[in-house]
Amino acid sequence: MNDKTILALDLGTTSNRAVLYDRLFKVLATSQQEFAQYFPHPGWVEHDAQEIWESVLQILSELDLSQVSVVGITNQRETIVAWDKRTGLPLAPAIVWQCRRSAQMCDVLRGHDAMIKAKTGLPLDPYFSATKISWLLQNSLVVQQVLSEGRLLVGTIDSWILWKLTGGRVHATDVSNASRTMLMGLSELDYDDALLRLFGIPREILPEIKSSDACFGMTDRAIVGFEAPIGGILGDQQAALFSQCGESEGWVKTTYGTGLFVVTPLADPIVSSSLITTVAWERNNNRWYALEGSIFTGGSLIQWLRDQCKWIDSAEASETLANTVSSSDGVVIVPAWAGLGAPYWDSQARGAILGVTRGTSSAHITRAALEAIAIQVADVVDVIKRSWPQLPMFGMRVDGGGTHNTLLMQLQANYLDMPVDRAMNGELTALGVAGLSAIAQGLVDDTVFRESITYKERLMPERDHFEKNVVLDQYRRAVALVRAFGDQ
Ligand code: ADP
Repeated sequence: MNDKTILALDLGTTSNRAVLYDRLFKVLATSQQEFAQYFPHPGWVEHDAQEIWESVLQILSELDLSQVSVVGITNQRETIVAWDKRTGLPLAPAIVWQCRRSAQMCDVLRGHDAMIKAKTGLPLDPYFSATKISWLLQNSLVVQQVLSEGRLLVGTIDSWILWKLTGGRVHATDVSNASRTMLMGLSELDYDDALLRLFGIPREILPEIKSSDACFGMTDRAIVGFEAPIGGILGDQQAALFSQCGESEGWVKTTYGTGLFVVTPLADPIVSSSLITTVAWERNNNRWYALEGSIFTGGSLIQWLRDQCKWIDSAEASETLANTVSSSDGVVIVPAWAGLGAPYWDSQARGAILGVTRGTSSAHITRAALEAIAIQVADVVDVIKRSWPQLPMFGMRVDGGGTHNTLLMQLQANYLDMPVDRAMNGELTALGVAGLSAIAQGLVDDTVFRESITYKERLMPERDHFEKNVVLDQYRRAVALVRAFGDQ
């Protein structure tokens, strides 16, 4: 075996990571850099796209890239960047997926909900890229000016970094990222003219949509110091799904990061009123779809306990504190800290801690927070199961920071009443796109990739756990209260 390597760039919400693999997917080296989050107004979240690019250059400079034979890109989805193709510079702050600034625009378009859902599989929500792009076109004078001069390009983070890595030669994206823009037809896998008109977005500023395993272009040696094909692009959740579940139905994967992303692969698309239907990937001229529940507040609830309440000094300490009590003692948290995502899609909802008594302690609330994370995931899985009883559901495969918490994972198995498999590999997102790209370039075959993914542990539901359905019912009643409050 020669020493060719595979490079995955994982462009996340809070940091960029580069992971270098050998051809058996053993990690050879990694580098990582965090970048700033900007919150200029309540509900607004921005990134500096130039800072993101410079951090990519920085993490690449820390690795030996001389043997790289293929590059894969995986990225935070929906976030959009607008740049000038002549200067190569961003024209405005990147509007991040969490940003709610276009909520009012969505309200104005409410009558089109059903058409948007039928075409794209997505609910009309500021989470997706379309209204973020419309917002920029309507509100940024410099964007309008550059558009009028024919120099405007707009795309998600994968497109921005692809364009930079190829020295401005390629403006493209893959189907999994494009399926999150709310501009692409799910069956055509192309931008939909009616949607482009509705959102007032000219087609020519958008990236070309390609298969996830297309050869997107070559890295520019003068810019990054090595030349290799960019052989795969996948949105972050789709990349983790590719690692965890591959191309077979029956398992659901959840990533426990800042948010919680519950995704199950589908051979054929199913459109749901409360979940997202998305493209998983297109490779080997074969499409896979996925059903996804995006939950906005997951690990960020633990960060809130740490940073705002100061009851714990690290995320890990949440487990120790929660383990000092045997239950939440009736405390229920509805973590609508940033509105409610799946399956409620209510951007007006705000969070609540209910059932507090004089005896409630920080330990009870911390335990309730872990339960709330597990319950939100179980609530989404319940919708999947009830809506499509014909879909097999063997268990859940989990990854992300929150999976280090054994109590959380056990609660998860209990609430799901299904086994939960914890992966051995740390970086399943990076690994997913490394695998897809390396297979596409003929470097390895599917079997080598599949064999590289192993599970360290299976948590089984405890049959004698407290009445799962009672707690789920309590949680749903609490959600109803919170939503009624938000409506006033
Ligand atoms: P992201 O890619 O979204 O930044 P990560 O996969 O790095 O997310 O996970 C970080 C998140 O996981 C943080 O929100 C953190 O609060 C949470 N987290 C990390 N470790 C634990 C733990 N032991 N228990 C509970 N939550 C945790």
